[in-house]
Amino acid sequence: MSIEDLRNALGDAHVLTGDDMAPWCRDWTGNYRWTPLCVVRPADRDGVAAVLRVAHQAGLAVVPVGGNTGLSGGTEAQGAVMLSLDRMNAIREIRPEARLAVVEAGVILSTLHDAAEAQDLSFPMTFGAQGSCTLGGILATNAGGSNVLRYGNTRDLVLGLEVVLADGRVMDLMSELHKDNTGLNLRNLMIGSEGVLGVITAAVLKLVPKPKAYATALVGMADLDDALGLLNRLQAVTAGQVEAFEFMPRRYVEEYARLHPEARLPFEAPQEVTLLIELGATAPRDAAPGPDGQPPIAAYLEEVLGEMLEEETLADAVVAQTESQRRAFWAMREAAAEVCTSRPAIICDVAVPLDKVVDFLGRADVRLASMDPDAAGIVVAHLGDGNVHYSVWTEATGEARNAIMEAVEEEALALGGSFSAEHGIGIAKRPAMARFKDPVALEAMRGIKAAFDPKGILNPGKVIP
Ligand code: FAD
Repeated sequence: MSIEDLRNALGDAHVLTGDDMAPWCRDWTGNYRWTPLCVVRPADRDGVAAVLRVAHQAGLAVVPVGGNTGLSGGTEAQGAVMLSLDRMNAIREIRPEARLAVVEAGVILSTLHDAAEAQDLSFPMTFGAQGSCTLGGILATNAGGSNVLRYGNTRDLVLGLEVVLADGRVMDLMSELHKDNTGLNLRNLMIGSEGVLGVITAAVLKLVPKPKAYATALVGMADLDDALGLLNRLQAVTAGQVEAFEFMPRRYVEEYARLHPEARLPFEAPQEVTLLIELGATAPRDAAPGPDGQPPIAAYLEEVLGEMLEEETLADAVVAQTESQRRAFWAMREAAAEVCTSRPAIICDVAVPLDKVVDFLGRADVRLASMDPDAAGIVVAHLGDGNVHYSVWTEATGEARNAIMEAVEEEALALGGSFSAEHGIGIAKRPAMARFKDPVALEAMRGIKAAFDPKGILNPGKVIP
């Protein structure tokens, strides 16, 4: 194969080489850098299929890329054809009555947010990279984010999928159905497959009613012991309207303040634990402002926080009074990637059962101190779904670095946890796959990979050890 074949398939302007490839030569973390053979930018599904046919015939590696915000090195593409979906960015339709959106893979997440909102609906997936990550990347990584507690992760939000296979055939799974038991669930297999089984080109996504009012608070506590009690009380009072329940420990908040001296911190005294809590009311009875101007959803929040302040299980609490205050609360949480990587860091992304988070944090801290007294855990967590980003600031390199990551993951696994909650495997978590994943499951994955991609051209070296 020559690059000429790709130019013939897509046109010269959409096959980039040399300096034109610069934006695609490293990942967001900067931990991975590479030089692709070329970057191709097809305009549609047929263009993707043409690229794959050419690459398949030549046995050439192809690495799909969306917004390149992945945190596991999944887009590393040394010597490979990088297949960018960025030109496939149409929202084909939004059908408000059916509560669905039909989108192409290159649509930026925040663009879909805006389009859904214009119809009084919401695509309920939010996280710090939403202004640049794409739906293709979200689907390929089965992304999570801050609203999993209420709406589930990506798999829970998808009805249909279109995938181009390694040899260029198109697999049409663009169902709009909520019930469809026609054989094996290939849609859910493709979601989270990180580009090793096929290239996702389009999807049918579920939309939900947009909350008509939010109640958002920052809560300070001495420790996490009563955090689940608070969550469960809020769920009971609001019949399950907690949208987000996020944890930022003192070290995180202090680092955020160092990086953002302009930001106003919520509490006068530093708190060991800061929780960001958001409730979302979709029913008018919970959202319409009362005589005091406050919607009932805010009263529910204040009621529970007031009770717990009186019981002295909370140290402090601030409820956002304006949309700009709410945004400021979220800015602190959405700076997570910046805060955790502001020094040389190992990014860990574990999940444990909700009632094991406290245990996990204690065990990981003790283990880390015994391995590297100069290292520090820098934690932020989607506490409501048990996903703890226990990253480690350390100067350790090579084997010492691997040993630290392994130790943190072991502590999660010892409590029934997972070594990869929402960022996927990519390259970074492949050693953990080899170490910890059930060997029979790994054999099954290798068989599935061989069935979909017998020549091994799709995102080689990722996910499956
Ligand atoms: P990319 O980085 O381009 O690709 C990610 C993987 O998917 C790669 O393996 C790639 O080959 C594959 N891929 C991309 N597009 C396709 C396609 N069309 N078909 C097949 N394979 C494809 N993630 C979370 O889950 N929750 C968070 O809260 C979260 N917060 C983040 C905050 C920040 C600031 C940053 C930088 C990242 C965060 N992430 C989070 C990680 C990242 O944003 C997500 O993994 C996101 O889904 C990646 O989308 P992307 O378009 O950038 O994908």
